[in-house]
Amino acid sequence: MSFTLAIVGRPNVGKSTLFNRLVGKKLALVDDQPGVTRDLREGDARLADLRFTVIDTAGLEQATDESLQGRMRALTERAVQMADLCLFIIDARVGVTADDLVFAEILRRKADGRVLLAANKAEGNAGDAGYYEAFSLGLGEPIALSAEHGEGLDELRHALMPWHDRFAAERRAAERQVALDAEGAPEEHDPTKPMQIAVMGRPNAGKSTLINAILGEDRLLTGPEAGITRDSIGLNVTWGDRPFKLFDTAGIRKKAKVQEKLEKLSVSDGLRAVRFAEVVIILLDVTIPFETQDLRLADLAEREGRAVIFAVNKWDLAEDKNQTLAALKEMRDRLLPQLAGAPLVTVSALTGRGLERLREAIVTTYEIWNKRVSTSRLNDWLIEQVQQHPPPAPGGRRIRLRYMTQAKARPPTFIVFCSKPEDMPTSYSRFLVNGLRRDFDMPGVPIRLELRKRE
Ligand code: GDP
Ligand code: GDP
Repeated sequence: MSFTLAIVGRPNVGKSTLFNRLVGKKLALVDDQPGVTRDLREGDARLADLRFTVIDTAGLEQATDESLQGRMRALTERAVQMADLCLFIIDARVGVTADDLVFAEILRRKADGRVLLAANKAEGNAGDAGYYEAFSLGLGEPIALSAEHGEGLDELRHALMPWHDRFAAERRAAERQVALDAEGAPEEHDPTKPMQIAVMGRPNAGKSTLINAILGEDRLLTGPEAGITRDSIGLNVTWGDRPFKLFDTAGIRKKAKVQEKLEKLSVSDGLRAVRFAEVVIILLDVTIPFETQDLRLADLAEREGRAVIFAVNKWDLAEDKNQTLAALKEMRDRLLPQLAGAPLVTVSALTGRGLERLREAIVTTYEIWNKRVSTSRLNDWLIEQVQQHPPPAPGGRRIRLRYMTQAKARPPTFIVFCSKPEDMPTSYSRFLVNGLRRDFDMPGVPIRLELRKRE
């Protein structure tokens, strides 16, 4: 669909008649279920060779008299917000009314010049006077239409054409930009390549024990040392049925005498591990969970865009397991809101309990981290969000969200094109990120949202 056109105007000017003509009567009638009051109706329009989305602001009629103006205002603003372009209709037989003036004023203020004006019911010459009056609205030359008789549609198409071209060019430019940006992005997900995992956490959390337990599983399956190779970066191991590469920040060869050196994980060690990793396991000690160092590491991993999993080790030592688990989740969400909902798995590296669940959490989170959402699904979603929760209007001019696309995965990164990115409050960006997480099922992985200017 190349662009979205909203049909606005007071009741009875012929909006629905035009909508039905553009969309095809049958479809619109099916849409009109009795008892369902939908204030914005949307359809796929065709006008000769043009294809676009059309929004009708019908439903105004149900409003009570005293709220009519208020509702008209709200609906029109919403339509302006959602659409690329508005078609404002007046009734040529009636001429310009006081209500028409209200609409014209809203459109002049809010629509940034994205308005076409039409005088409907212009068949014959009963509409001539009204047609000429329409010029006084200051919205350009009106198109003389007869929605009912199908007249003036060619003029309408002619008026839409430059807008169609402009929006198509904008979209192409945006897509080119996104494609250019993606060139420098990390390589795509390859299931045959080992998943790169870093196990991080404070000294004595049990990192070495955990890694040995994972290596032990591999040995059990493939014979002593057979599947394990070491290179400068990490250890290759087959765990379950998948290849993994483990990076251990403590060093599995850790000896008691180097303990001192390991007391504090240096920042550069941490950074190196995080850069190497696709999934970072923050290994917590259940007896002292979410210590400052754990928080720092988790935050570092999130800022670097890694998938993060909390593994709570020494679970064998936990007493009231249900209560402890609830407390740990509460701490995670409170102390690391940027990682709220990230997987939290309880393990006992010493006994090997919980390792399978840990492996499943790693694989699931890795897949979410690699997830891609199609542009069309994203844009349908964006329209819904904006409808439910319009962006703010600093200085009285609403920020228009035009469209969005996923620029890359690893971590999922989205670009929203909007009219005034510099004025967008972070609370609205957060609303969108939270919505993406919820509606596209991406718990726990970092989600990046970038705003770009597109008038
Ligand atoms: P809406 O309230 O703006 O959606 O208006 P409708 O589409 O429901 O039309 C209101 C009335 O105007 C209906 O009785 C239509 O049949 C009539 N109407 C719509 N378009 C035309 C037109 O081009 N010419 C004439 N004469 N009547 C029309
Ligand atoms: P690292 O410094 O993070 O590599 O920790 P280590 O693997 O060296 O473990 C530190 C201590 O915790 C050792 O004494 C381990 O035996 C003990 N430990 C590790 N995992 C567990 C566990 O699941 N349960 C219990 N009770 N102790 C554990």
